[in-house]
Amino acid sequence: METAYTHCTLCPRACGVDRTAGARGFCGADDTMYVARAALHPWEEPPISGTRGSGTVFFAHCTLGCVFCQNRSISRRGADSGKAVTPERLAEICMELQARGAHNINLVTASHYAPSVARALRLARAEGLCIPVVYNTGGFETVETLRLLDGLVDVYLPDFKYYSSYYAGLYSAAPDYPDFAREAIGEMVRQTGAPVFDADGLLVRGTVIRHLMLPGLAGDTAQVLRCIAEQWGDRVLVSLMRQYTPFEMDAHPELDRRITDAEYAEAVEQFSTLGLSGFLQDGESISESFIPAFDGEGV
Ligand code: SF4
Repeated sequence: METAYTHCTLCPRACGVDRTAGARGFCGADDTMYVARAALHPWEEPPISGTRGSGTVFFAHCTLGCVFCQNRSISRRGADSGKAVTPERLAEICMELQARGAHNINLVTASHYAPSVARALRLARAEGLCIPVVYNTGGFETVETLRLLDGLVDVYLPDFKYYSSYYAGLYSAAPDYPDFAREAIGEMVRQTGAPVFDADGLLVRGTVIRHLMLPGLAGDTAQVLRCIAEQWGDRVLVSLMRQYTPFEMDAHPELDRRITDAEYAEAVEQFSTLGLSGFLQDGESISESFIPAFDGEGV
């Protein structure tokens, strides 16, 4: 039994619940790890997906409450979704994905299970896992929890969703998100150092910060980009994403549209002016907004 689950402070919400006794905090998870899908995924940034795909493991539940979540069928479901897995089984899943040709293991939204994930990664490494481990997160993290992963994660892939506490509260139920995300990304960059690519152009180490543009928040995007440039400069890569797709936005009609070409072009110009490097999306990739079926495949 992982002691971190008995008074849970694994994420900034610090609910303090005893998950080993079946209690659930904001994220909705008890101490049993649930995985919704494990499969080769072709739609990450090119140096992560490569030609054969990223070995992606989607975890159920989430510490954020984004009103626009594309994965809500697993993130906000009240009951557990997917399949229960032990750390031993998760280690096996990693080995199976490696055997299928995955360029890396890509753990999506795993922080509420961080102690179990760390154990699984140690087991997998001992069994011969030799591809990079990517930690794919919404960015709402504590430094303490990230330190459980120090030496086990090669590439961090955090979101930096908002600069403004107001928007973070309004759209993700986390007004303290910006402060925690900045500290968390600082810790990630400390752990990984600057980006390193292998001979095939695949990312084997580093931190890639994702920012998904939201309708009407161009000013917030500008502040996020400026903050990244000032704090981490060329020690990080930045993925500026325009693939936001509205879905059931009755409660937030201001979000019920896509990002326009003009909005994206303005952000791209700022990206360039600030000297950032990383990944941009062309118009066609909007249609690649990809929601996999969370069908328990590979679990
Ligand atoms: S991981 Fe879940 S239970 Fe733990 S502090 Fe965060 S939201 Fe609360």
